Amino acid sequence: MEKVIGIDLGTTNSCVAIVENGTPTVIPNRGGYKTTPSMVAVTEAGKRLVGHIAKRQAITNAENTVYSAKRLIGRKWSSPQVANAVATCAFRIVEGPHNDVRIQLRDRIYSVPEVSAMILQEMKVIAEDYLGQEVSKAVVTVPAYFNDGQRQATKDAGQIAGLDVIRIINEPTAAALAYGFGKKIDRMVAVYDLGGGTFDISLLEIGAHGVFKVISTAGDTFLGGEDFDARLIDWLVEGFKNEHGLDLKQDRMALQRLKDSAEKAKCELSAVKETEVNLPFIISSGRSEALHLQRLIKREDLEKLTKDLVDRTIAICQSTLHEAGIEKEEVEDVILVGGMTRMPRVQEQVAEFFAREPCKGVHPDEVVALGASIQGSALLDESTEVVLLDVTPHTLGIMIVGGYFEELIPQNTTVPTARSKIFTTVRDNQSAVKILVMQGESNRAEENELLGEFILTGLRKAPRGQVEIEVTFEINADGIVSVHAKDLETGAQQSITVTATSGLTPDEIKEMIAESKEYSVERRSSEEFEGARQEAEKLLGDIGKLFPKVEEIVAGSDFGKEAIEKARGVLDRARGALERKDVDALKEQIEALQRTQRMFKGVISKTG
Ligand code: AMP
Repeated sequence: MEKVIGIDLGTTNSCVAIVENGTPTVIPNRGGYKTTPSMVAVTEAGKRLVGHIAKRQAITNAENTVYSAKRLIGRKWSSPQVANAVATCAFRIVEGPHNDVRIQLRDRIYSVPEVSAMILQEMKVIAEDYLGQEVSKAVVTVPAYFNDGQRQATKDAGQIAGLDVIRIINEPTAAALAYGFGKKIDRMVAVYDLGGGTFDISLLEIGAHGVFKVISTAGDTFLGGEDFDARLIDWLVEGFKNEHGLDLKQDRMALQRLKDSAEKAKCELSAVKETEVNLPFIISSGRSEALHLQRLIKREDLEKLTKDLVDRTIAICQSTLHEAGIEKEEVEDVILVGGMTRMPRVQEQVAEFFAREPCKGVHPDEVVALGASIQGSALLDESTEVVLLDVTPHTLGIMIVGGYFEELIPQNTTVPTARSKIFTTVRDNQSAVKILVMQGESNRAEENELLGEFILTGLRKAPRGQVEIEVTFEINADGIVSVHAKDLETGAQQSITVTATSGLTPDEIKEMIAESKEYSVERRSSEEFEGARQEAEKLLGDIGKLFPKVEEIVAGSDFGKEAIEKARGVLDRARGALERKDVDALKEQIEALQRTQRMFKGVISKTG
């Protein structure tokens, strides 16, 4: 029978699981470990190493050992996160041809999905060794907060690894699935996931009939265990500098050793109250004298150094609950996921915040892969009762005239989903429209992420606003977006599956936005807007007529000048709302315009 594996492709470690005879099980690797480091290396002889053996040689081959590729996947070269990785990683990160990120190992350059594919392939082999048969299908997990580009790139990685990724699911959903599977429970749970590179918090409702409905999800794709390590490294480097006047960060090999020891010390401090970092011959003093690093670290030191990081996760929990309109008390179970949740301080703070002890008996490193395997088996075998209702983590929309972002699918909408809106042309006889598909939360288009673009041509000739274009967004169960635009009159259509590889720089995006003015669309004006527009335009006209007179009358007084400035502000805001076709803002401005008009009339009547 065909098998499908579940893979948790982690930043630091990866894990593979399968459902056997109805029971989800983690598959150990050849070394007997249930998780495999997400590390890839190429040796001097050109041999590729993955997992534990890559990790073991990382110190002596730091430049050719990749870790945390997940932090780079689907990201653009020009992003700040990549700049940060370039500055801190021991391996070489280079710019790809599409503003994408590449990694150099020895004399070959790899794309990030290629590197992730090596890890996925390793997981595939682990499963095949165990099962004694070939495996070609997988469910792969990603952080809920991954955007479309990151999901696509993960799927690409699967394909490169020779795996048919039948579904991408979110890590917290997978965790909840593993937790609630077969339990016949009906409750609200929070999944707090602090891994090596990312933090996620998700609120889910688990229904008795195998329904897992995500209510809300949020997180930070650049907050994780590595940041805890970095604090410890900085502290050790600082201490060493004070003692010996030497900067260990200047020495790649020393830095790599320090990284390893810092992480090890951090993990040890989860079990013991103090530990020692001991690195003999870490660096040479320059007087052919080797120096050692030896330092005692207490658990409280680590807690102090990383307090703000833990606080940040709690703040995200708070805002997520608030935005979802859920009280802390409504959360009935808290599931901890990710290796970092082994840190006692993290557990304490989570327990304190939710006022309840997190669930025991859920293995934070394995729960995600187990959930993925359950989803995999449910997709293959229809008798398994599992329905996942996930949500989209980002708002999706298009750019409209004026460079504004018009939302089509709001954040935290249950997927799969499809939404349509009707837009109109902005110029007379406009023959084409360009649809810029974007993801993000800002109402300024340029501040959001551009996912893709396409042009719908051959519109019929008509005055502005008369041609109606229906734009439909669809998000499938993998969280991957496709968009169609249709001329409602002629039926002409265009569609794209948004691809991650467009790789544009912010300047290119700005250029595209400027250039696309020619092809812009705007929201179809509703009756409500039409009414408001007429009223606002009448008020603007009337106030405009009174303006010179009022200005002349009040010219002498500071108070009067201030009032004139205020009135100008009101007019500007009203014009802005008109331009954006923002009904709510316009209504607000109408009231302000009415006040201004009364004030102006009052001034004139008193003097005249
Ligand atoms: P994950 O991405 O879920 O594999 O989480 C990996 C992160 O958890 C890494 O930053 C590890 O250093 C960290 N981690 C693993 N075990 C522990 C532990 N016992 N205590 C503290 N952190 C840990």
